[in-house]
Amino acid sequence: MKIPKMKNNIRDQMSSYPPEPFRIKMVEPIRLIGPQERSQAIEKAGYNVFALRAEDIFIDLLTDSGTGAMSDRQWAAIMQGDESYAGARSFYRLTEVVQEIFGFRHFVPTHQGRAAENILAACLVKPGNFVPSNMHFDTTDANIRVRGGHPTNLVIDEAFDPANLHPFKGNMDIAKLRAFIEKVGVENIPFGMMTVTNNAGGGQPISMENLRAVAGTYHDYGLPFFIDAARYAENSYFIKLREPGYTNRSTLEIAREMFSLADGAAMSAKKDAIVNIGGLLMMNDEGLFRNVCNELIIREGFPTYGGLAGRDLDAMAVGLREGLDEKFLAYRLNQTAYLAYRIKEGGVPIVEPPGGHAVYVDAGHLLPHIPHGEFPGQALTIELYLEGGIRSSEIGSVMFAHPDPDSGEIVYPQLEMVRLAIPRRVYTQSHMDYVAEVIGKIAKRADELRGYRFTYAPELLRHFTARFEPLKTFTAKTRRTRSLIL
Ligand SMILES: *Cc1c(COP(=O)(O)O)cnc(C)c1O
Repeated sequence: MKIPKMKNNIRDQMSSYPPEPFRIKMVEPIRLIGPQERSQAIEKAGYNVFALRAEDIFIDLLTDSGTGAMSDRQWAAIMQGDESYAGARSFYRLTEVVQEIFGFRHFVPTHQGRAAENILAACLVKPGNFVPSNMHFDTTDANIRVRGGHPTNLVIDEAFDPANLHPFKGNMDIAKLRAFIEKVGVENIPFGMMTVTNNAGGGQPISMENLRAVAGTYHDYGLPFFIDAARYAENSYFIKLREPGYTNRSTLEIAREMFSLADGAAMSAKKDAIVNIGGLLMMNDEGLFRNVCNELIIREGFPTYGGLAGRDLDAMAVGLREGLDEKFLAYRLNQTAYLAYRIKEGGVPIVEPPGGHAVYVDAGHLLPHIPHGEFPGQALTIELYLEGGIRSSEIGSVMFAHPDPDSGEIVYPQLEMVRLAIPRRVYTQSHMDYVAEVIGKIAKRADELRGYRFTYAPELLRHFTARFEPLKTFTAKTRRTRSLIL
């Protein structure tokens, strides 16, 4: 594939960063509490930013999930919600949009993405099964594991090199995928997946060419193919920008082509559908749909509301269309790139090229003196709060380190990252400038930062509820070299 030239400096980004394609009709005050108060707040939170009170945060970049600003049209749609238990008009309005964009034969709403994953896993994953993907997101990974399955990540090697400017770093390594299927045997694989864009790997896009090859491979082996579609709209716009042959195609056409390759999709609507809560599970197979409906009724609700209020379905129907709007997507991806290159300009290593929804700071590289087991990403998330009241999230060893099932030895992820996720239509350019300045200040005294250790950690999804204490000293003998990070 011809690799288009990537813009990777701040001035290029400035020139292509369109002003916000909206104006602000309602505001929500935010405040920066004092340094002493921040220090007390984070200690009380067990040094886990998930346990902070939101009112003690100035700029909240914990996630772009469910944190977007709904439009006047979405709020208007909410007033039209039909709260009938079954067969509500809201459901049929959502159905129309879902059919137009995704085109699968069947779908059910769910209360969020992980509920869709839970139901899919309940219907299809048996103990000992393997589910390949480019990279599973943490909730998908956990939903497969709790059913006794093994989630397997087969993304291209470029994904692990934060400096590599590959335009589609979320792509699957097709050779690895074929070898993997041959090795574990098709009978042990209930379905294959692809996360679009690749959240756990930096919000990186997947090319249409790669999706076609992935679908072809799964189908060669008779395996159903499910897309984790949380950020399908951002992915569609990346394809339009970067993949030869797609410049003149609309994001809707690109999205339809992507989904035409798959047999189904699980989606969190809290991302590209710009709603505060909601999800979708879509599929072509009739038998699977019947089982999904039965699981849904136990866990979520009747198939025409699936764990949501009628008004939520209406907000999602409108949000799905707004999320695909190309003016919005141009602003969205450029805002992310703008923050990324402002941070890079301040001397802080980031994952390049920037992904769609978040800037991923390479904390392992910024803090080479803190070993994996002392959580360099966690140290940086805490410092961002202490320095500037900014909330971010660790995507590294706190989230992903786990004991090897055979040897019991701890396996650490290749990258120690901190994610600055940007809520949709919420923060302005001056907020982005502030964040970049705070990180720049921290980088100047990076060698003063210390690691952390767990005082409590649950077995699964431990980053949400774990508690920590700061380490007073370095453990010099476990210092990492840069080559280990990559
Ligand atoms: C957010 C997300 C999920 C889970 O969705 P929730 O709505 O948070 O339950 C799954 N996959 C990806 C890629 C996500 O980003």
